[in-house]
This record gives sequence, structure tokens and C-alpha cells, in this order.
Amino acid sequence: MQSEDGGSEPRQAEVTGGTRGPSGLPVCIACGGRRLKPMDYPLPRNELFRNLAVLVCQTCGFGAVKTPIDPQRLHRYYEDDYAGHAGREAKAAPERYFSDSALMFKPQRSLSQLRLAEGTLSGAPRTILDVGAGFGTTLFLARQQFWPEAELLAVEPDASMAGYLSRAGCRQLASPQQVDPGSCDLIVASHVLEHYQEEEILDILGALRTLLSPRGWILAEVPNSDFSADPDIAGHSHEPHLLFFSKKSLRQVFERCGLRVSFLDTVGPVRRRGLGDRLGNRLRRLAGRPASEYGGNRAALRILAQAPSSAGGSV
Ligand SMILES: [Zn+2]
Repeated sequence: MQSEDGGSEPRQAEVTGGTRGPSGLPVCIACGGRRLKPMDYPLPRNELFRNLAVLVCQTCGFGAVKTPIDPQRLHRYYEDDYAGHAGREAKAAPERYFSDSALMFKPQRSLSQLRLAEGTLSGAPRTILDVGAGFGTTLFLARQQFWPEAELLAVEPDASMAGYLSRAGCRQLASPQQVDPGSCDLIVASHVLEHYQEEEILDILGALRTLLSPRGWILAEVPNSDFSADPDIAGHSHEPHLLFFSKKSLRQVFERCGLRVSFLDTVGPVRRRGLGDRLGNRLRRLAGRPASEYGGNRAALRILAQAPSSAGGSV
């Protein structure tokens, strides 16, 4: 295919996997929609993310990588490459890390999440599980500043975090399957869900739901990445995310897993935008359309939900 300037357009990556409907055609796992628009994975840096196809649902904005990735290669990527460019290098050894918030990884984000939970939970949580706990900052602050008696459970695949999680006072588990069903009053999954493959996400979220106690809540945060509303965000690197949530699709995925959503909003810093982005927003406003969610709004989506059987209850 030739573009207008005569150059050849980049070849779109092939859609070879992903969830399909009875007709064999790809469907959106968030809303069941069939209007899916293909795009290439935005700005891959690592070779693993090149030539990945993404389908974006034009109904709800959910985006998913539709090229199967070998789980072992993905695991190696997280072990070897991810810690560095995700900015997760420790600023201090475990002995000092929790002594000063300036040494911690994103403590303000953790505190803001915990304040939301505090305002919603009925009473102090007895058990808190953090899935993808990282250094354990959220769990540490939960006990230090909110609920001193809470039992802290951490699931974190990065083995280099073990010393930090131990210092934070967490019991470390290899997977959520090791947690007793019905035992968690609060589950935190912050910037984790977008790392799963499409085939896994409903099962993972459904499994987390079974871990909630009758008065339990799940608090999740993901990047705000609605490619259908704002194609400009494809101009930002999203590596290594495999799922891209809009506000609407995040709600739908939670509801499909039997969770009742009580809070859902954009949070975090406003994305820094280039001149092109600002001009785009000005044109949108002139055309009577709302400014882009990504630019005029915030960089992440935060959601708080509970299982319907417990909704409104105060066990
Ligand atoms: Zn959809």
C-alpha cells in the first residue's frame, strides 16, 4: 500500500490469536463487541514487542494484543529487562528503603490508593493482599499509616524484591492461588492487570474475586489507554503492556467477573503533551468535541469494587 507521500506504509502486524466468537472472528472480551480495529503495538523498544498486533474495540475502547507471546520469553523479559526501564531500580537497600518516603517507589500513589480504601471499607481490614507488590511500599504504608494490625500478603514475581517485602513485614506468596478463598478484606492490584495476556485476564480477576472476604474490596489501577478515543496515545510507549483499558472497558471487565464497581475515575499526573497533542485538542474543541481523555485528563484509571453478595453488607 502506498501512502500519499509515495512511501510505503508500515505493514500491520498479523492478528493470529486472541479470544474469538462462535464465528471464529475476534471479539472484545470486555463488551463482546465485534467492531475491532487493528493497529501495531505502539513504539516497541524490546524485540519481544515488535510485530505484535493490537485490536482496539470501537465500542468500549478495550485494546488487547492479539499475537500470542511465549510465556517463557515474557518471563525472561521481566527478569532481565523490565526492572531497569520501568524505573524500579531501588534507591536504597532494604534496610534503609522504608526509613524515608523519598527513598520509596511512588509512595504518594500508594497513599492516595489507601486513602480511597480507607474511606470505603467498613472497619480495618484484617488481611491485605497486594498482587504485584513490587517493593511492598503500599503494604508497608497500609500498616504504618492506616491499619497497624493488618496481616500483609504479597505476590511479586520479581525475586529481587524479596528483601524489601520481608522488611515491609509481608508474607510472600508465589501466586494468589496460595491465598485462602474468602480471606482478604482488601486486595490491591496496582499497575498489574495490563500486563496479563487477554486469555488470562478474566480468569485472574475472577480468581481474585474468590479471595475476597464477605466485606472485601478490590482496588486496582491501570494506565488510562483508550486508543479508540485518542489515537494520539499510540504515540507513547506502552511496553510491556498487553491490555489497554478505557474507563468504560475497565468497568465492563470487572462486571464480567462478577464484581460491583463503586468507584471509577482517572487519577495521577496529567500526561505531558507535545505541540501536536495540544493542537489536536484545540481542533477537537473547535469541532465541538471533548478534549482528549488522555491529555485533558489523567494518566491512570483507578477502580474500587466488591463482590455483589457483600455489596452494602457490613459483616
Ligand atoms: Zn469492547
